[in-house]
Amino acid sequence: MNAILSRKHDYEAGKLAKRLRHQVGQAIADFNMIEDGDRVMVCLSGGKDSYTLLDILLKLQAKAPVKFELVAVHLDQKQPGYDPDVLPNYLRGLGVPFEILEQDTYSVVKRVIPEGKTMCSLCSRLRRGSLYTYAAENGFTKIALGHHRDDIVETLFLNLFHQAALKAMPPKLRSDDGRNVLIRPLAYCAEDDIAEYAQQQGFPIMPCNLCGSQENLQRKTIKAMLGEWEKKFPGRTETIFRAIGNVAPSQLADRNLFDFAGLGADAHAPRTDAHAWLAGEAREGEGAS
Ligand code: SF4
Repeated sequence: MNAILSRKHDYEAGKLAKRLRHQVGQAIADFNMIEDGDRVMVCLSGGKDSYTLLDILLKLQAKAPVKFELVAVHLDQKQPGYDPDVLPNYLRGLGVPFEILEQDTYSVVKRVIPEGKTMCSLCSRLRRGSLYTYAAENGFTKIALGHHRDDIVETLFLNLFHQAALKAMPPKLRSDDGRNVLIRPLAYCAEDDIAEYAQQQGFPIMPCNLCGSQENLQRKTIKAMLGEWEKKFPGRTETIFRAIGNVAPSQLADRNLFDFAGLGADAHAPRTDAHAWLAGEAREGEGAS
């Protein structure tokens, strides 16, 4: 790479890092994700998303006006071919406190799921169970997950197409058992940006599918659909994401969210421009006849 190309590359890399830091900072502020004194457990799977999450949170922590603690936590699920040295070596190099938990969920999943069927749903449920229990028992006030904007939009369509429900994956929520608060600081970040950042940073990525399982087919189909849309209409994924934060319950049909039964006309409501125009048209019509 010549000097000009190398400078351009560094400039673009700097812009990307800045954009991601800005988006994470914005999401944290918008949803009050991290407060003074929080103990944040950062779930580290070894994939590009969670490495990026940890990296950016550490950078923000160094400059944040509030004090909070970050601990990286990883679950070794005893998948075949898993290298137990990769994460500890990387995390020691960073100097971040970390914990590697061990639980053989792989054997459980293999035993329960018939050969040839996707194991991811049970596997991730077991992983979540272990990590959330650890967080509750060890005084963590927040659990940070690496889901990004594209995961959120894909989940919206999964629920729309397969559950007949208009719901996605919130940037912040209380876990089902109420013991944890989950945060998704990458909620505003595009997956392509994260992938590029992970490559630039040279994170030691550990593939999830060491177990040989395939990604959920329905999610794959939706990812492909969104990818096609994005190619034809750049910016569409971002528009859909913004729509999740711009909901008008009175324009949907959920009777639990809006009191349609109690809706009636207000005789004293001021005329709208359209009413005034229609009234004027009617008067002109009468004059003409
Ligand atoms: S690919 Fe394997 S390890 Fe990853 S979630 Fe699926 S079953 Fe679990």
